Amino acid sequence: TDLKHIRNFSIVAHIDHGKSTLADRLIQMTGTVAARDMQEQLLDSMDIERERGITIKANTVRIEYPAQDGDTYVLNLIDTPGHVDFAYEVSRSMQAVEGSLLVVDASQGVEAQTLANVYQAIEADHEIVPVLNKVDLPAAEPERVAEQIEDVIGIDASDAVEISAKTGLGIPDVLEAIVQRLPHPEGDADAPLKAMLVDSYYDPYLGVVVIIRVLDGKIKKGDRIQMLGTGGKYPVDRLGVFRPKMQDIAELGPGEIGFLTASIKQVRDTRVGDTITHEKKQTATPLPGFKPAQPVVFCGLFPVDSAEFEDLRDAIEKLALNDASFSFEMETSAALGFGFRCGFLGLLHLEVIRDRIEREYDIDLITTAPSVIYHIHMKDGTMQELHNPADMPDLTHVDHLEEPRIKATIMVPDEYLGDVLKLCQDRRGIQLDMTYAGTRAMVVYDLPLNEVVFDFYDRLKSVTKGYASFDYQMEGYQTDNLVKMQVLVNDEPVDALSTMVHRDRAEQRGRAMCEKLKDLIPRHMFKIPIQAAIGGKVIARETLSAMRKDVTAKCYGGDATRKKKLLEKQKAGKKRMRQFGKVDIPQEAFISALKMD
Ligand code: GDP
Ligand code: MG
Repeated sequence: TDLKHIRNFSIVAHIDHGKSTLADRLIQMTGTVAARDMQEQLLDSMDIERERGITIKANTVRIEYPAQDGDTYVLNLIDTPGHVDFAYEVSRSMQAVEGSLLVVDASQGVEAQTLANVYQAIEADHEIVPVLNKVDLPAAEPERVAEQIEDVIGIDASDAVEISAKTGLGIPDVLEAIVQRLPHPEGDADAPLKAMLVDSYYDPYLGVVVIIRVLDGKIKKGDRIQMLGTGGKYPVDRLGVFRPKMQDIAELGPGEIGFLTASIKQVRDTRVGDTITHEKKQTATPLPGFKPAQPVVFCGLFPVDSAEFEDLRDAIEKLALNDASFSFEMETSAALGFGFRCGFLGLLHLEVIRDRIEREYDIDLITTAPSVIYHIHMKDGTMQELHNPADMPDLTHVDHLEEPRIKATIMVPDEYLGDVLKLCQDRRGIQLDMTYAGTRAMVVYDLPLNEVVFDFYDRLKSVTKGYASFDYQMEGYQTDNLVKMQVLVNDEPVDALSTMVHRDRAEQRGRAMCEKLKDLIPRHMFKIPIQAAIGGKVIARETLSAMRKDVTAKCYGGDATRKKKLLEKQKAGKKRMRQFGKVDIPQEAFISALKMD
């Protein structure tokens, strides 16, 4: 295809503003998919993604569009993840396209992720077409929202396209705007091959599938290619495009986006942003490449049933095949036995992986307290990274500790502003900025990441009845007075419940945790003390009283089947518990105990 007839773009939006619905409509109206094959959210392929409405990997689709000028255009859409955990991945895939559709729900207006995502598009030098969605809703105020886009983002929204992705209204205008307003790609078909590795995923039948964007030259099936960053050399087995199903193609030229397979064993052998060229005739101007995405949140994953350890290893290895940003290493815990210390891009990423292990591999898990990475500066001048509070070295050798901080942007309607400020203050936040966009306030806070990882987002949603939106970026490390808090159940330390806390908050946090655990741990035949301690010093204490006597034996004495059912139920309940000394602690206690109300 000649360059003038190609348009490459992405769609940026806050979650739920209609990105996936618009993508579906574009695919449908151009006849890319036959009506009988049309199902909602075509691009969101994984189950969990479908349920939660998020897209984790970049997906692409090639659409052919006969425009009003009489020519047919090839439109390549790269759909990117919409959640803050994956912001860095979004910024990378934006480098592969020239333009963005900025979708804003006309009944809601600009939100925190609208801002974060559109700034990435601006940084990638995109031409941006504002699209006001959901104009079918009675609450839609397209003029007001267009003004807000100009005020808050600072781009021209006078010719924003008004649409309803739901009813299909305005979709032809979007297609025309893509052709007329977005620039066509540039590139030299006669130069040596230079292509960008946009993303990759593991397919059980095809091996690793690599999504590429060709900048210069041409690539064909059978070509011998080399990846300049990793040095890997491969023959191209298969070359194609997504429509959105895979379709083979003879050749991809400048400006085109497609996929290749090349007997690559694992996703780790591919590096997003790497330059792909011909082995023999190499490009002289490789791309700068990207830093790999680094995990920021760590937690332990242990099988509830220790016999399932090998199954867990297998599951984790398989999932890691497809996800280079998910890291793991073996961990042993005095209380939980063998498991894995895993690193994630954020809490959502953690939840997705945990859910997939439980669902797809049917393994019950104990997830320990999520922790961020602390920097421990030792007295001898060296620095260690702490991924697990249980590994905290002896304090006599420690000079000081640093913790990661974030810059958080929160948008919230006026009436909830007070609650949001209080929440941020409670989490040791420092206010950096506060401005208004209509009746919504935008506040910017500097917050410790560890105060955000457990339940900040849930709390924010609940104090604002779901009206606040949130986005963040990592800012760097800062010294603070941090200590390790241990929890003792029946006088035994439970390492999996150890957390790092700020010294000033330790008593409060310790008390809350002991109270929670008292509710979460079932009564036993004996009295159980539950304590929080720093060093050897107990700072909070609760006592779970003993159960009086076994009443079930009498109640169900006469009915054998009911008794059996009851026993089975108890057994199933037991399966999700772990024994610590003589005490059974239920699985959910490990996460729930850390949530702060
Ligand atoms: P995404 O998170 O940006 O991908 O948003 P989705 O495409 O999943 O849409 C979120 C919700 O808004 C879904 O329930 C859609 O059915 C709904 N929605 C999307 N576009 C429209 C629209 O134009 N009008 C109305 N009324 N609802 C819409
Ligand atoms: Mg979506």
